[in-house]
Amino acid sequence: MSLDDHAEDLASNLGVDKTEVKRDLENLVSYSVPLEEAKDSLRRKYGDGGGGDGGPTSKAVAEITPGDSSVTVTATVLTVGKRSIRYQGSDHVIFEGELADESGAISYTAWEDFDLEPGETVTAGNAGVREWEGDPELNLGESTDVTRVEESPAIDFEVGGDAALVELEPGDRGRNVEVRVTEVERKTIDGRDGETEILSGVLADGTTRLPFTDWDPHPELEAGASVRVEDAFVREFRGAPAVNVSEFSTVSALDREVGATEDAPRLPVREAIESGGLFDVELVGSVIAVRDGSGLIERCPECGRVVQNGQCRSHGAVDGVDDLRVKAVLDDGTGTVTAILDADLTERIYGGDVEDAKAHARDEMDQEAVADAIREQLVGGEFVVRGSLSVDEYGANVNARSFAATDDDPVERASDLLAEVSR
Ligand SMILES: [Zn+2]
Repeated sequence: MSLDDHAEDLASNLGVDKTEVKRDLENLVSYSVPLEEAKDSLRRKYGDGGGGDGGPTSKAVAEITPGDSSVTVTATVLTVGKRSIRYQGSDHVIFEGELADESGAISYTAWEDFDLEPGETVTAGNAGVREWEGDPELNLGESTDVTRVEESPAIDFEVGGDAALVELEPGDRGRNVEVRVTEVERKTIDGRDGETEILSGVLADGTTRLPFTDWDPHPELEAGASVRVEDAFVREFRGAPAVNVSEFSTVSALDREVGATEDAPRLPVREAIESGGLFDVELVGSVIAVRDGSGLIERCPECGRVVQNGQCRSHGAVDGVDDLRVKAVLDDGTGTVTAILDADLTERIYGGDVEDAKAHARDEMDQEAVADAIREQLVGGEFVVRGSLSVDEYGANVNARSFAATDDDPVERASDLLAEVSR
């Protein structure tokens, strides 16, 4: 193959002008860069991942790996979400969602408007591949050629973005939900274009409750309203999925009332942790320990962090503010979580407020006296905690909204069992 042929091949694979590619190639070769290396370098320059020879190969969705630089794939569009992002200083409207064939589904980002519609089948020629959190993702851009295909693969996935709240996962795009707005407040935040108004609150359906943010306040999102939200995206917020409503989302009032669950799903601890985070969950287990940093504590008046020996990690020496807290380790046999109880919940367990706790510690001349009293109340007992679960490198923590002894007393249950055995 002549240099000219190489340039022509490369240019058509990359979907760029041949004269430019040829000039670059000649230039590199004239500096004694080996031809294959020169071609790789041009693939990188023109936005292809590089590596490999020849044009993109046709692949089934399941065969695509993060190591592919580009592929040609025929698949059905499952979802299309429209979103505005700021990239290198300017706003771009992008389209994101999932494509699927018989072998599996894959996420995509389209940097141009290919007018994709859920349900249609397309061949994306020369789609870029990038890695996103370990998985391959398709990039449809300038050099991608999208053509409609008549025949559709037999896919095992639902077309369109309709979902129940409990099914949503961070990274989902183009989702549609029918929900009740259970809480909403208007907030002013410091956005990328200065002060801006947003809505934030909680949505519920028959399956669960999730927090939401509306970045372009829709008046239909008012407390108590039953609405259909189309084209929402899902982000992770404190380890749990959060529904994001944007300028491209549509919100319409429903003429029926959406049944909103009052309950949180009750899960085994291990299953809850494996989910990666939950906004509202109920866990039951025995308290096996009350951790250090419980009882009477001091917080930084600036940031609210717990201060140790009068030192805040961010603000140095500060005059701490007294507070009450419990960090109780709950074990249900499948795993352990730390339930974090605020001052209100702690007061109820301790049977006194901050002033009582200070007097108690003074009398005993021991700051730990309060934590010890709480330990006596909790350790060994069975409790049910409800709240938001976050899972990160610091472990699994539940910020408790409620915390109570289980109704069925284990002692009673044990004696029931004995009664049965002796019968
Ligand atoms: Zn501080």
